Amino acid sequence: MELQEIIDRSRRVVFFGGAGVSTASGIPDFRSENGLYASEFEGLTPEMILSQSFFYLNPEGFFRFYRRFMLHPEAKPNAVHRKLYELEKADKLRGIVTQNIDGLHKATGNRRVYELHGSVHENYCMDCNAFYPMEKILHSEGIPRCDHCGGVIKPWVVLYGEAPDKYTVMGACRELSNADALIIAGTSLSVEPAASLLDYFHGKYLVVINAEPISADERATLVIRGDVAEVMDRVVMNG
Ligand code: NAD
Ligand code: ZN
Repeated sequence: MELQEIIDRSRRVVFFGGAGVSTASGIPDFRSENGLYASEFEGLTPEMILSQSFFYLNPEGFFRFYRRFMLHPEAKPNAVHRKLYELEKADKLRGIVTQNIDGLHKATGNRRVYELHGSVHENYCMDCNAFYPMEKILHSEGIPRCDHCGGVIKPWVVLYGEAPDKYTVMGACRELSNADALIIAGTSLSVEPAASLLDYFHGKYLVVINAEPISADERATLVIRGDVAEVMDRVVMNG
């Protein structure tokens, strides 16, 4: 069965995405050939730097890496984000569960977005909880400090070693358990809770769109090996 037919036959589609969804927007993923994991920074891997322990041990180093590689103010939504917006407007798409922290689904206008790993657009003072947009981090130097109390500003991004937000995970589980079709795209599924969340899906059609094989392939109704932006761009809204 083709992807178009699955979408036509479904009423509650959920999209579960990862970094591959945003590569067409110019944001590198982690584990592809050109991904960030292919390189080392000051002798450390991205996984080491983006960890809770590193954040507390060496906040200057953390923010140096974070500003340079995790913030992409110039990135614009691509064909995947746009198609998902149309699908939500047409009442086909129930929700988007994403591991991305770039905020591009919300920027496109989608409303039911579950950002499992948080968002670079939300930053909070660790002492007084004051909110700051991404620009505050981008345009500060060294460790970003709160205007009100001088506390350290921490991005609302789930670092390795940190637990994801409970309510976001609960919302994602609810959407997955109510879905009749699930599209998994642009993710290696190697970061928890992604892989185990998928067990909440008991719907009819499971589609995987990814450039390389992933663990979910074996349970899928349809596996499309290719570029998610090209594949989603071809989807049309019927009825
Ligand atoms: P990952 O890098 O582990 O895996 C990406 C997967 O997508 C790979 O299997 C790759 O083959 C595939 N892929 C890449 N481009 C594709 C394309 N155009 N079409 C189809 N498939 C494509 O990413 P992940 O599984 O999302 O997990 C990585 C972690 O990295 C997450 O925690 C996430 O928060 C973080 N991250 C986020 C961003 C972002 O916000 N845009 C970018 C990089 C990393
Ligand atoms: Zn403060």
